[in-house]
Amino acid sequence: MAIDRHHRQYRTRRELIRKRWAREQRRCYLGGCYIDYEAPAGHPQSFELDHIVPIARGGALMDPDNWAASCRKCNRSKSDKDLDTYLGQAAAPQGRYPHPGITPIQRTTTWGDEPLRTSRKW
Ligand SMILES: [Zn+2]
Repeated sequence: MAIDRHHRQYRTRRELIRKRWAREQRRCYLGGCYIDYEAPAGHPQSFELDHIVPIARGGALMDPDNWAASCRKCNRSKSDKDLDTYLGQAAAPQGRYPHPGITPIQRTTTWGDEPLRTSRKW
């Protein structure tokens, strides 16, 4: 059976790279934006592992050379476009930090036990 993004091996590697990039405080490669590595999945500034060459276009799922850190917002707008196509779009939110209209999460000391405080709905 082919390995897909739900495969345990992929998820394990993804988690390792997330931790490494979190330590490096790596920014979103698409927009240069701040990534909140601890934000819950679905938050616009949460970490997403982007495949530079989309899987849908034949990119390698498991090849770290095809991996890059992105925030959800950019990753979602890139979708399955290739990078050149995406960066050629006028709508690409390049270099903006934070994204317009998004307020970084105001975090309590830990998260998980209590709800995240956000100053604005997202
Ligand atoms: Zn971004």
